[in-house]
Amino acid sequence: MNLRQEITEKIRKIAGDANVRVDEPMKDHTTMQVGGPAALFVTPGSEQEIVRILKLLKEERIPWYVLGNGSNVICRDEGYDGVILCLSGRFKGYEAKETEDGTVQVTVKAGTDNKEFAKEMADAGYAGFEFASGIPGSLGGATTMNAGAYDGEMKQIVQAVRILDPDGQIVLKSAEEMEFSYRHSLVSDGRSIVLETILALHRDEPAKIRERIADLTARREEKQPLEYPSCGSTFKRPEGYFAGKLISDAGLKGFRLGGAQVSEKHAGFVINREHASAKDVLDLVEHIQRTVKESQGVTLECEIKIL
Ligand SMILES: Cc1cc2nc3c(=O)[nH]c(=O)nc-3n(C[C@H](O)[C@H](O)[C@H](O)COP(=O)(O)OP(=O)(O)OC[C@H]3O[C@@H](n4cnc5c(N)ncnc54)[C@H](O)[C@@H]3O)c2cc1C
Repeated sequence: MNLRQEITEKIRKIAGDANVRVDEPMKDHTTMQVGGPAALFVTPGSEQEIVRILKLLKEERIPWYVLGNGSNVICRDEGYDGVILCLSGRFKGYEAKETEDGTVQVTVKAGTDNKEFAKEMADAGYAGFEFASGIPGSLGGATTMNAGAYDGEMKQIVQAVRILDPDGQIVLKSAEEMEFSYRHSLVSDGRSIVLETILALHRDEPAKIRERIADLTARREEKQPLEYPSCGSTFKRPEGYFAGKLISDAGLKGFRLGGAQVSEKHAGFVINREHASAKDVLDLVEHIQRTVKESQGVTLECEIKIL
């Protein structure tokens, strides 16, 4: 990996030495725990830092990738010869404003952790985010992916999103302009950065909110192989089918390729069973897609982003 020293130094000046790492293993920053090094791994702490770094990278035509909590990303074993801007490190926090119509407007920074945020919302008595309490990502990742679970989806609670657009401008997009659809949004193409998401929540008793979170957590723990590294559901839900059932019916439950395995607990999850490489995982994903297509004629689309 060889990113020009001069650029590295400039980024260090913007983000601070401690927040810029060279040849950083991506397996330490993704929940599948696979993948080679990123040439430069930066954890900016403010909007201003993000804007300045991105301007520099664009001027120098250096490839960049924005990362949240890495719970839906796999980096290949060869690594990434560019700059990772990881917002989950330092770009966190929220501000809440109670409005006259009884809703609560909460503006959340993109790197804020879903689980921690859900807990804080429950403590404050703000309801509506419970569905996402077990999604192990950041608010920016959840917004970009229109993450969803248990009949909830980000698009139901997002009021607006502040993004850094491809021209380097900070703009406010309404929920409609965000073009949310199943695991997709306006910013899914990787050219913009979600800075803040503005949510419309409502008041409820903390005890009731905590109860709903506890119920969803129990359901997740019962069904999902949370004891192993993974990216959650590997495939998008094909219309009219369940990916897990298709994979199970194809006889692939428990099937292993190198260190990667189709979970025995939930066939929709590919897990890092034991020291898997990114190649093991990606080969297994391909094998599942081929087998399901041949045996049942259904195309499974991978939900995980590959870097
Ligand atoms: C055990 C487990 C359970 C899961 N359950 C669910 C579930 O129930 N529902 C669900 O929808 N998902 C689920 N997931 C998948 C994953 O957690 C979600 O997709 C999550 O929203 C990703 O957030 P992240 O911060 O980790 O994003 P990353 O994985 O870091 O990034 C995902 C994508 O979003 C982009 N991105 C991230 N942050 C930003 C930003 N600020 N601006 C622009 N683009 C950005 C990245 O470039 C990448 O393309 C699960 C994953 C695991 C491991």
